[in-house]
Amino acid sequence: MNIITDITSPNYNDRASGKEINALILHFIGDLSAQGALDTYANPESQLSAHYMLDINGDAYALVDEGKRAWHSGKSYWQGETDLNSTSIGIEIVNRGYAPTATPYPDTQITALIELCQQICARHPAIGTRILGHSDIAPARKIDPGHLFPWERLAQEGLGLWPVPEKQDYDNHNVGLLTTLHQIGYNPECDGVTLVREFQRHYESHVFEKGHEGQATEHTHAIATALLRMMS
Ligand SMILES: [Zn+2]
Repeated sequence: MNIITDITSPNYNDRASGKEINALILHFIGDLSAQGALDTYANPESQLSAHYMLDINGDAYALVDEGKRAWHSGKSYWQGETDLNSTSIGIEIVNRGYAPTATPYPDTQITALIELCQQICARHPAIGTRILGHSDIAPARKIDPGHLFPWERLAQEGLGLWPVPEKQDYDNHNVGLLTTLHQIGYNPECDGVTLVREFQRHYESHVFEKGHEGQATEHTHAIATALLRMMS
């Protein structure tokens, strides 16, 4: 993984005082061209940035110092925190993203992303397993990094959690699915169908192939229960 430092973004400010970096937020830019996004981040009028942008070939542009508050998440929520820009590192990934032209993430790019994320997590141990998509923290507004993003592979490399339900997770349905999603960290003010859809985009993305997103099944409930169990 090659880190490029000769392009930076002016779009940042200081992190809110007293907040530590405890999350890593992944995005896609919604385009296959890195240059357009780099122009946007370099333009002060865009008011958009991220700490890193990862190109398709695995080159990582270091745009904003990790100690500063980059502007990548906007209005967001996770586990009670509403200023995710102050508490996170943001990575924009070059990927077209949107269906029907959603494109898989090339292996070279994901290998570089894993290396970059591992380095960031080593510098900021409070991130722990809190490696999330923009869609997790802004489910009513955002779908990135998309249903084709290989979350399971990242979890295999120690980045984030990948829930594998056990019998107890099917049996322990004492509370409703939405209550479980709220306990995981999703915004309780967001409507239920949207929350289920965005949870599935991260953890049960095969439902998107059949257009069944937003429809919770027993399996959806079990993996949410498993995820909450793994978090504790
Ligand atoms: Zn985003």
